[in-house]
Amino acid sequence: MKIPFNKPWFTGQEPRHMQMAALFGQISGNGAFTKKCHRFFEQRLKTRKALLTTSCSDALEMSAILSNVGPGDEVILPSFTFVSTANAFALRGAKLVFADVEPGYPNLDPKAVAKLITPATRAVVVVHYAGVACQMDEFVGLAEKHNLWLIEDAAHAIGASYRRRPLGSIGHMATFSFHETKNIICGEGGLLAVNDKRLMQRAEIIWEKGTNRAAFYRGEVNKYGWVDVGSSFLPSELIAAFLYAQLEAFDDIQKERIRVRRSYLDKLAFVEANSWAQIPRLPEYASDNGNMFFMVTNSINHRDALLKHLGRDGIHAVFHYLPLHSSQHGTLLHDGRELPNTDRFSQCIIRLPFFSGLTEAEVDSVARSIRKFYEKQTR
Ligand SMILES: *Cc1c(COP(=O)(O)O)cnc(C)c1O
Repeated sequence: MKIPFNKPWFTGQEPRHMQMAALFGQISGNGAFTKKCHRFFEQRLKTRKALLTTSCSDALEMSAILSNVGPGDEVILPSFTFVSTANAFALRGAKLVFADVEPGYPNLDPKAVAKLITPATRAVVVVHYAGVACQMDEFVGLAEKHNLWLIEDAAHAIGASYRRRPLGSIGHMATFSFHETKNIICGEGGLLAVNDKRLMQRAEIIWEKGTNRAAFYRGEVNKYGWVDVGSSFLPSELIAAFLYAQLEAFDDIQKERIRVRRSYLDKLAFVEANSWAQIPRLPEYASDNGNMFFMVTNSINHRDALLKHLGRDGIHAVFHYLPLHSSQHGTLLHDGRELPNTDRFSQCIIRLPFFSGLTEAEVDSVARSIRKFYEKQTR
C-alpha cells in the first residue's frame, strides 16, 4: 500500500523515558511515571480519579465490576461498537440489551435507550464514535431518573468535549484506549476515569488485585490484604513512561490530527455536493478531536466497490464494526429486535487513511481516487 490506513506516531522521547524508568529501578506498576500520567489525566479530563490500565478492554471490565452487575441485571449498550464494550458486561453474567444508534450519526440514540429501560436495567454504556460526543444531557437525565450507572466508552474520544465538558468526565465512569490505532498511544494501554466519589476507593482496590495496597503505601492502613475481588489491571512503569512521552506532546498530537481531518473535509467537499456519499457534520454540542475520518456511502455495494477501487490505487481504507447483535456470539444473546440504523452504518461506513503526518499531497491523492471512482459510477 502506498498510503497505509494507520501509522503509529512517536515523539522520539519514548525510549529515553523508558530508560529513565529502568534506571529508577522500579519497573512494576504504580511508580513515578504512572503517577505523572494520573495527574495529567485528572487535570485534563477533569476526572476525580484516573487509573492507568493495560487496555481499554480492561478498564471496561473494571467498570463492569464497579457497577456490580450480574445475572438478572440488564445493561444497555450499542451494537455498533467494538467487542470489548460488550465482553466486559457479558463476563459478569449480565444480560446485554443492544440499542440502535441515531439515524444521522452512529452514536447511541437516547430515545431508543429510553424505550428499553426496565426495572432490571442497571447501566447504560455510551460510545462516542470517532470522538464525537453522544447526547450526554439526555443520557445523564435517563441515568438520574432510573438510577442507572452511566459509563462512557471514550476509546476514541481523548481530548474531545460535550458542551465544553471533557468527554470521560460526565458519566459515573469512563474508559480510554492507548492502542496504537488511537490518538495517544503506548502499544496496548488504557485508562479508567472515575467521576463518582462513591466508586473511587473500590476502583483502586480492584485495580490492585483486590487488595488495599495503595492505601497501605500512602500510610493510611498499617497492613494490606485481600479486601475485595480484583485483578492485575495496572501496566508496568515501562508502559507508563512511554505513554508519558506522548502526553508531553498531547496538544501537538491533537492539533496535527485535527489538521488531517480538516484537510479531508476540505478536499472531499465535492462528495457531499454531488450527493455521492455523506460526511456527518459535528453536532453543535460536540468538538473535534481528530480521531478519524469516515464517509457514509449510499449503499453497501458502493462501499465495497470503493474499498476495492482505493485498494487498486494503493490506498488502504477500511469498513467499521460488524454489528454485535448479529455476530456469531451476539445472536445467542440478542432478543431479535431489528436495529436498522446500526445495520446501515455497518454496511456503508468507509474509514480513510488517518494518522499524524499524513501529508496534504496524500489527502489529495485519496480525494482524486474517490472522485475518479464516483465519476465512473455516474457515467
Ligand atoms: C479500541 C476500542 C476499545 C478497546 O481498546 P483496547 O485498548 O484495545 O482494549 C474499546 N472500545 C472502543 C469503542 C474502541 O474503539
